[in-house]
Amino acid sequence: MVYSKHNIFSRITGSENFFLVNLLSGSADILNPQEGHMVHDLLNGNMTADDFRESLIQKGYLVDEKEETKLYRSKYLDFIDTRDNDEVQLFFVPNYSCNFACTYCYQDEYAPAKQELTTEIIDAFFRYISHEFAGRKKYLTVFGGEPLLSSAKQKELIAYLLQQANQSNLEVCLVTNGYSLSGYIDILKTAKIREIQVTLDGVGNVHDARRFLKGGGATFEKIVEGIDACLDSQLPVNLRMVIDKENIDDLPEMAQFAIDKGWTKNELFKTQLGRNYELHHCQVTSEKLFSRISLYETIYQQVKQHPHILEFYKPAYSISKFLFENGSLPDPLFDACPACKTEWAFDYTGHIFSCTATVGKADESLGTFYPDVSRKDEMIAVWENRDVTAISECFTCSMQLACGGGCGSVAKNRTGDVCSTDCRPVKELLELGFSAYFENTK
Ligand code: SF4
Ligand code: SF4
Repeated sequence: MVYSKHNIFSRITGSENFFLVNLLSGSADILNPQEGHMVHDLLNGNMTADDFRESLIQKGYLVDEKEETKLYRSKYLDFIDTRDNDEVQLFFVPNYSCNFACTYCYQDEYAPAKQELTTEIIDAFFRYISHEFAGRKKYLTVFGGEPLLSSAKQKELIAYLLQQANQSNLEVCLVTNGYSLSGYIDILKTAKIREIQVTLDGVGNVHDARRFLKGGGATFEKIVEGIDACLDSQLPVNLRMVIDKENIDDLPEMAQFAIDKGWTKNELFKTQLGRNYELHHCQVTSEKLFSRISLYETIYQQVKQHPHILEFYKPAYSISKFLFENGSLPDPLFDACPACKTEWAFDYTGHIFSCTATVGKADESLGTFYPDVSRKDEMIAVWENRDVTAISECFTCSMQLACGGGCGSVAKNRTGDVCSTDCRPVKELLELGFSAYFENTK
């Protein structure tokens, strides 16, 4: 019996206790200091007490290597089967233009194409997806630029897009800056809206200093009005706060604002935090950005001081939140990147892309759905084949089944190769997560 290569073991932040997690066997344990030291001894090649050793074998922390390889293969096949039946998220970008000039927007790089969206292009998109994804469960996410611009022409096109989605029996999500949301409510009510994602980066001036109109102008009040209008009309809202060092201190106030508005008690309301990071080009002010782990360390400290934040947002800390809420681990994650598997993106110029991280980048186009249908099969295959079994560093990494290899686009931006690593600080996140969910909630 050997120590499983899928064990993740470390000390819990601010505690004498340790955790031991194995996503392949599905076991997770908190170990007292004595047990933790016995695991340390094992790692150093020393024997341990028989009964402790027996419990480690039972839970799949000590394994027969051949048996573990068999289990790995079988769980991998389960993962592929499940994914093949998963719902596909199809993004559609009606325009890259935007009425905002956010300080951190990566799309400011994109030169607007001369072409404009037409009903003919929308028809071609629905023709393509009904053929290409026939028999697959799927839903549509309308993305930008800003899809909900206030012009009459844009409203007509979005209404037509939603009408076609209805005809294809597709639920729709929208990603919007929220500025013109209240003027779109009647149009949105005609569709099967799954969720409207709106971004607020803080309360009042904190938000307005980051997300303002092109040419200047505050946006906070109009967005809040739009969120209220959605919730009043039974349209689900997913509020996203994009965080960096400039607005992190406003998180407690943002949480209190959402609580005071009654949003957090509304079952149609949920939240997410987005880490501002260099996705496409170096931000001039990159010193204001958090690394993944430093962001979560800061949130961990903030939650300690302002526990009401948890009413607004519960950090995942890798798989910790899932484990806390479900009492069991999630299935092993052989691939964290849905691009070209359960996610595709399309834009109004007729191009096809792997996902939202690549959409609109000419050299990332994987083909066209308009005016003609074409596919770059070799490029698509690279995306399709990316998972932890295809990336050599991942295959030997003990975090692989929690990390899933990260994001293919971030990996490609870093190394030039989609099939390379985008490492997630799984162990460090679990150290925080076990502390937040299991030690501090006793
Ligand atoms: S490349 Fe990154 S952004 Fe795109 S689907 Fe994969 S994980 Fe998501
Ligand atoms: S991306 Fe890095 S941390 Fe994630 S599985 Fe691969 S090697 Fe491990």
